[in-house]
Amino acid sequence: MKNIQMVDLKSQYQKIKPAVDKAISEVLESAQFINGPEVKSFQTEMEAYLAVKHVIPCANGTDALQIALMALGLQPGDEVITTSFTFIATTEVIALLGLKPIFVDVDLDTFCIDATKIEAAVTDKTKAIVPVHLYGQAANMEEILLVAKKHNLVVVEDNAQAIGSNYHCVDGDQKTGTLGDIGCTSFFPSKNLGCYGDGGAIFTNNDELAAKMRMIVNHGQSKRYYHDLVGVNSRLDSIQAAVLRIKLRELDNYIAARRKVADYYDSFFAPFDGIKTPMRGTQSSHVFHQYTLTLEGIDRDALNQYLAEKGIPSMIYYPVPAHKQKMFSSFGSAETILPITDWLGERVLSLPIHTEMDEEQLSHICNGIAEFMKVNA
Ligand SMILES: *Cc1c(COP(=O)(O)O)cnc(C)c1O
Repeated sequence: MKNIQMVDLKSQYQKIKPAVDKAISEVLESAQFINGPEVKSFQTEMEAYLAVKHVIPCANGTDALQIALMALGLQPGDEVITTSFTFIATTEVIALLGLKPIFVDVDLDTFCIDATKIEAAVTDKTKAIVPVHLYGQAANMEEILLVAKKHNLVVVEDNAQAIGSNYHCVDGDQKTGTLGDIGCTSFFPSKNLGCYGDGGAIFTNNDELAAKMRMIVNHGQSKRYYHDLVGVNSRLDSIQAAVLRIKLRELDNYIAARRKVADYYDSFFAPFDGIKTPMRGTQSSHVFHQYTLTLEGIDRDALNQYLAEKGIPSMIYYPVPAHKQKMFSSFGSAETILPITDWLGERVLSLPIHTEMDEEQLSHICNGIAEFMKVNA
């Protein structure tokens, strides 16, 4: 049996190696490493895939979030409503810009911000909402957009884990990350659409915001050496763009392969008391960036350890929720009461899921968990 990994980028690469190697060597021959034609082509292809007006490539997903927030012209002390149950980048950039993260609890079934609890957190300082489509499934965007409209708030979607997911709107499907004012994603290698280094992108249908963000990623200039805004240097390089063009063509196949793994897990765990498999909501399709169990009455950490001893990796995303991280101690956010976030934080366990898994590996993982359940019954 092939070694089991959380993600297997090596095997995935083997399948697209001829195309990738050719594309990379063409970039090397062209010597246009920055802002080359590959970046422009990737941008156009991504716009078509997402059916969005503007894609702005940048250096990574964290930058994407930071640039999005910079474009909103917020003032220090302004409040941004978000979730604590996320990768730290989402909330870190809020604090970095001198803004105040306001943590709202998550929904028990989707792991995403509980849209019904947002309005109670709105104050006269609230300027934006940053929902995170965690593990590959969207937050309740209809509800979030309604609250945002009512209170004149901007919505920035953190779509780093849900690229390719379809949100079922009344007038048809729309890609997640294109529903709010701005969407952000990461092309970190292990993401569903990952490059071979760092990369990220910002999406918007708003021409004005797009123009501003294109300036911000490039030192605040629209004309060379004339700097109108304080910006940053955040670029997607041509080699990464060349890799992404190839992988974007595979993205829907990759998502289908992940869903097959999820289907296998779903049916295996269905009879187990105490193992809750990820709910697939009716609002958006699940792209299974992670396959995350919620374990009730089962010693999660002992299972994690037991599997590790059998060479089966499993991960806790994330062991400490953002509001309890020391970096936010000045906000006193640790005192915020987020019962669902805390409850889930002690019970979630993510299993290996990627595009290259076979039945032998899946059955080995499932049997490992079944054995643990038997021993600890
Ligand atoms: C990966 C990720 C990011 C950050 O992306 P980087 O490219 O690593 O900077 C932000 N938010 C979420 C939810 C992520 O999963």
